[in-house]
Amino acid sequence: MKIAVVGLGGTGSAALRFLACAGHQAIGYEQFRIGHENGSSHGESRIIRYTYPDLLYTQMMSDSYKLWFELEKEADEELFVRCGGLYFGDKNDEDVRITEQSLIDTNLPYDRLTAKQTQEKYPAFHLQSNEAAIYQKDSGFLRATRCVQANIRLAKAHGAIIHEETKVQGIYTKDNKTFIQTSSGEEEYDRVIVTAGPWMSSLFKDLNLPLTPTRQQIVYLNINDHEEYFQANGTFPVWIDATENLYGFPSDGQIVGIKLAYHHCGEAIKDLDAERAPVDENYLDEIRRYAKKRFPNLGTDVTYSQTCVYTNTPNHDFIIDQVPDQSNVFLVSGCSGHGFKFTVLLGKIISMLATDDNGYERDLTRFKINSFLKDSK
Ligand SMILES: Cc1cc2nc3c(=O)[nH]c(=O)nc-3n(C[C@H](O)[C@H](O)[C@H](O)COP(=O)(O)OP(=O)(O)OC[C@H]3O[C@@H](n4cnc5c(N)ncnc54)[C@H](O)[C@@H]3O)c2cc1C
Repeated sequence: MKIAVVGLGGTGSAALRFLACAGHQAIGYEQFRIGHENGSSHGESRIIRYTYPDLLYTQMMSDSYKLWFELEKEADEELFVRCGGLYFGDKNDEDVRITEQSLIDTNLPYDRLTAKQTQEKYPAFHLQSNEAAIYQKDSGFLRATRCVQANIRLAKAHGAIIHEETKVQGIYTKDNKTFIQTSSGEEEYDRVIVTAGPWMSSLFKDLNLPLTPTRQQIVYLNINDHEEYFQANGTFPVWIDATENLYGFPSDGQIVGIKLAYHHCGEAIKDLDAERAPVDENYLDEIRRYAKKRFPNLGTDVTYSQTCVYTNTPNHDFIIDQVPDQSNVFLVSGCSGHGFKFTVLLGKIISMLATDDNGYERDLTRFKINSFLKDSK
């Protein structure tokens, strides 16, 4: 089949690779350059973990991990750094409790640690006596930009064609034929997969997709002393503070300092194509305040900072569906700030759906567009 993929971030690049590997005529469109920094899939690190306060996501991560390992093997480069992960919060935090239950239900190994045990094992972390942690050894981080580039490289090696700096202006279906419009004209396809992240709504205005793109900020702070406490060799796991809603990484070996950020949604972006403001001063102060309490060996100097976009649905579930009234068109979006670890799986699932393969074993009903419409009633 001749299949277009619109948007080559994490999900689209993976879909393109799967289609090309399966022998389809796969053509990718990206409005910027591959690996650009205007969307969501760029940077040195994205957390990967089984630990989810939701059984279906924990189960889907079993599928996703396998695909990341395959990609890493095929690409023959390090894409996944397995440094373990700490998921912590107040002892009574509901998310911590449900996350632990999901690990039990899926038979995944983990350790439950008190504040004192956490600091003994991971000396950079200072938890309070009212807090507890779950440690899961398979967590770590994905080198996001490299993952996208690896997918694209392998897709090309399997015959995919990539149109960079080519914005898709419209997608329409007439007499059961589907067309893509760009500034160079129209092209007909058997199927079209749209993985346009935060730009999705602009391509499907009539669908009223429940998507809100928000501006997100990340910060790297310098290490004042004990550099050895912050390494990705098992000394400093990736971490999520479920109660205060922050997360962070060990030293990634590329950018000086330690990356940390708030997970809560920033302000809604009205114009995705407008230049984005740099990281706010008060955000930096909040991060410094948190770091002083949690990681006393960190300093207050910002060694790097960046903004990025989340594409949020109201309940933070993904959207994975066929477009109503355009049966040749399939879409994935709404990764809601936690989707990178799934992008390889989402690319696989959507490439299967678009090629009439209903073999994915899990029930994805809750990710259909209609489920969100029901939710909002
Ligand atoms: C700061 C930050 C931290 C995050 N941390 C984590 C984490 O630790 N773990 C995790 O799992 N997830 C994390 N995420 C979420 C994750 O990065 C995203 O969910 C994921 O990258 C979304 O990928 P995507 O392919 O759906 O979208 P995108 O990466 O946005 O890709 C969409 C692509 O479509 C292109 N496009 C759009 N419209 C058109 C058009 N009309 N024509 C051609 N091309 C078009 C865009 O240019 C873009 O390249 C984080 C996100 C951010 C912003």
